[in-house]
Amino acid sequence: MSKLAIFGGKPVRRKPLPTISNRSGRNIGDEELELLKKVIETGSLFRHSGIMVSSFEKEFAEFLGVKYAVASTSGTAALHIATGAAGIGPGVEVITSPITDMGTIISILGQNAIPVFADIDPETYNLDPESVRERINDKTRAIIVVHLFGLPADMNSLMEVAEEKGLIVIEDCAQAYLAEYRGKLVGTIGDIGCFSLQQSKHMFTGDGGITVTNNDEFAEKARLFMDKGWDRGIAGPRAYVMLGFNYRMTELQGAVARAQLKKVRWVVERRRKVAASLTKRLSEIEGVETPKIPDGYKHSYWLYPLKIDLEMFNASLAEIVRAISAEGIPAGAGYIGKPIYLAPIFLEKRGYGGTECPWICPLYGKDIVYREGLCPNAERILKQLITLPCNEYFTEEDVEDIAKAIEKVLNYYRRK
Ligand SMILES: *Cc1c(COP(=O)(O)O)cnc(C)c1O
Repeated sequence: MSKLAIFGGKPVRRKPLPTISNRSGRNIGDEELELLKKVIETGSLFRHSGIMVSSFEKEFAEFLGVKYAVASTSGTAALHIATGAAGIGPGVEVITSPITDMGTIISILGQNAIPVFADIDPETYNLDPESVRERINDKTRAIIVVHLFGLPADMNSLMEVAEEKGLIVIEDCAQAYLAEYRGKLVGTIGDIGCFSLQQSKHMFTGDGGITVTNNDEFAEKARLFMDKGWDRGIAGPRAYVMLGFNYRMTELQGAVARAQLKKVRWVVERRRKVAASLTKRLSEIEGVETPKIPDGYKHSYWLYPLKIDLEMFNASLAEIVRAISAEGIPAGAGYIGKPIYLAPIFLEKRGYGGTECPWICPLYGKDIVYREGLCPNAERILKQLITLPCNEYFTEEDVEDIAKAIEKVLNYYRRK
């Protein structure tokens, strides 16, 4: 058996894999430059004096087949716009997934509402509708569904639970451009859908976001919330009609976003091909579980999650991941590491201005505890999951190197 690179052996791969951090793994160039040049030449970098952001909103809405889209500065902003537009506020609970980016939760805390975490399905890593149902009470107002890694959540069951209890459903599609659930695009199934344009996402402007909806009232409020609560349609003194923020996307981002939108279908199609090759190759390795995709679901592979049966190996997940990375394949251990409710902000309720606000808000009047054991599936899965990059520029050779590195490391640590 060849010596692992982590112990000084020859790595499977020396040349860096294409990465989302630079042009090696990002489809960006002349199309973006051309639109950016137009913006610079007009001298209008502000959305209300240009056409790029408004055009991007129109094009994105058409692309998804929804009535409205409101662009913003980040995926976190897109989510905050959603909770703001939906009227989420102090004293209410919002149920969401414990395996997600902090941006999801900021959109809840940012409205002084209380995040409640439901457990996940151990096969899809997405919200388990039954666990969601169990966490609903008379304070619950909304569910934020995360389509983790690009795999849709079980939307029919979640929508059923929501309708039964009169809850608003917000879809966090930051990782799930063009992911499909039974013929429908994610982001168009719930009441509001949110996307991120951060550097690592399927389409990107460095930072950026967009919120979509078919609901007239939510759309109107989203637009105001994004723009300081200012109703620019009303003449005379500035009409600040509600609490909002400045989440306006600039024309520079708008220009890049429009060019990116033309490429995202290609990106997702390429990633599906790469992932299919990875799955074919990784399925040959004993002790790993490739993504399980329920019938009628289409994954868009923001990352490629691989479950490791640790009982078969003489190493921790962290050791395995370090060894794979040393072979030249950048792998991650457990995505965010731990369920998000075990982060210090939740364990110690580090809220506004050094107080426990909003958790101690009198409008809430309840006590909530975040602790180990809250979502057993999520806690267990993150201890078994490694994440692999799945890039649109990976070749068959790259896929082979990824598989070889994993094979080499797992065979070394395999219990006899
Ligand atoms: C990236 C991401 C966000 C936040 O997006 P930003 O653009 O980084 O603010 C929210 N939710 C999920 C699931 C994400 O992956």
